[in-house]
Amino acid sequence: RTFHSLRSAGPLPPEELPLTVAAYAFSLLSSAPPLVVAGRGPALVDAATGIAVSYPAFVAGVRSLAGGLWCSLGLRPGDVALVVSPSRLDVPVLHFALMSIGVVVSPANPASTADEYAHQVRLSRPAVAFVAPEVAARLPRHVSRVVIGSEVFDRLASAGGGWAASPAVAVKQSSTAALLYSSGTTGRVKAVAITHRNLIAQISAYNAIREAAAREAASDAGKGKPPPPSPPAAVTLFPLPLFHVMGFGLLTRTISSGETAVVMRRFDLAAAARAVERYRVTKLSAAPPLVVALAKSDEARRRDLSSLVAIVVGGAPLGREVSQRFAAVFPSVQIVQSYGLTESTGPVATMAGPEESAAYGSVGRLAPRVQAKIVDTATGEALGPGRRGELWIRGPVGLCFTLSYMGMFFLGYVGDPEATAATITPDGWLKTGDLCYFNEDGYLYIVDRLKELIKYKGYQVPPAELEHILQSRPEIADAAVVPYPDEEAGQLPMAFVVRQPGANLTEQQVMNCVAKHVAPYKKVRRVAFVNAIPKSPAGKILRRELVQQAMASSSRL
Ligand code: AMP
Repeated sequence: RTFHSLRSAGPLPPEELPLTVAAYAFSLLSSAPPLVVAGRGPALVDAATGIAVSYPAFVAGVRSLAGGLWCSLGLRPGDVALVVSPSRLDVPVLHFALMSIGVVVSPANPASTADEYAHQVRLSRPAVAFVAPEVAARLPRHVSRVVIGSEVFDRLASAGGGWAASPAVAVKQSSTAALLYSSGTTGRVKAVAITHRNLIAQISAYNAIREAAAREAASDAGKGKPPPPSPPAAVTLFPLPLFHVMGFGLLTRTISSGETAVVMRRFDLAAAARAVERYRVTKLSAAPPLVVALAKSDEARRRDLSSLVAIVVGGAPLGREVSQRFAAVFPSVQIVQSYGLTESTGPVATMAGPEESAAYGSVGRLAPRVQAKIVDTATGEALGPGRRGELWIRGPVGLCFTLSYMGMFFLGYVGDPEATAATITPDGWLKTGDLCYFNEDGYLYIVDRLKELIKYKGYQVPPAELEHILQSRPEIADAAVVPYPDEEAGQLPMAFVVRQPGANLTEQQVMNCVAKHVAPYKKVRRVAFVNAIPKSPAGKILRRELVQQAMASSSRL
């Protein structure tokens, strides 16, 4: 049996029309009534400096930079551009400029190591990398680079003034717009190909949810409930990194809706609370650790956070106690849960409206156009409400079947047909690797993760990558890495290590050997030495058994 979204979906442009997501976004901004009207907030604000970019300046900046990228740098549709920088105002301008000429944006984490970039570059083969100065030295030598904010970059940014008049670049909606990095359900990091159509569909779904929430509020007012205070122009704070699907997708949607995005270079709780007060932020989008931190923070209580209407939480599970503690401190702020994957390009299920937000523990109802199945992984049977199984998702199946399911979710892993085939079924279902159920009212609950993936503070930690590093050490005979539950971080990567006979490796040495090769959020934070790693007859690590072992030994302490 299949679950269907009950939300209304906004209009979508015809699939066959050549259209980039940037052109689509700009067409929405100038549609009637125009979203960009005098008095509206700016497109972007830098949280630290207060420097703002108005919508007209944003659109002009994108067009001018696009002209520079096309004419001076010679970039063409299908080329890939790596973007590696902390969030700053030029990053969204660069993302839109690249996508507007059909160049594939590949945003990566600025905290990654040289080994991690080497792997990503092998996957995405960028024609050029746009980098923050501190990142440049860690990129493979052969990748040509432009330092963001340098003179060369500034020349490119101003090179294309008036370029808007040049012939439109014909880019199919089914072309890749972005390559994001995710390990998916198993193995090492892969490059997830997201099309212009995926992003366009997400923007239209976001706008449909917003409009439905506004209609609901208006009809409540008609039924004698007090009218909602005139809605302030939405101002969203982005403590989320712009290289992860949550930040990348939400920023694209925010800009396309004429809302204001306040960007933070890196996450810092006190700075986030200050930014909410200073810019009258209405919406904060974050991973669960921020909710935990805000609920406990004295700094947040000292600030005037009265502008905050909602906190949108996703990327990892939000504990019931945490959301209750948050609601007790900030009773007027709605907790909007959102569930999605890099491979789904954005939210699969999301809450909007006070009624849904009160359903603690659920991630909400299916987003517009999403279909879902709960599948018993042993039998392949599709299960009804209340039954637990793996969540499979799909876009609408229309006349043009093959393209239409791609219209919602990712195209595949670049250069990895095997991993793609293991994730997308021939009839278009994307296997999420999450153990879930729906209740009778269509609310989705995430119970557990069936896939290997560990999430530390919402960041992906692929165990296979850490196991590879550990197993390549001569003193280590075998190793496995599993998630260890932690209130603040969600999960901590924990290594189970079998030492070679005679080796006297310490816990600290195990942690250090991994830390040298990976970004800080991927560090191993707990170690246990064991005699053997439990494996299935097929040689698969029995991770659940290891997690239970770790929990049992810590409860004995
Ligand atoms: P990523 O590709 O980094 O966005 O990771 C996607 C995975 O994060 C999902 O498959 C889930 O396992 C987890 N996840 C994302 N959002 C939520 C949520 N709201 N609640 C529970 N788990 C989530």
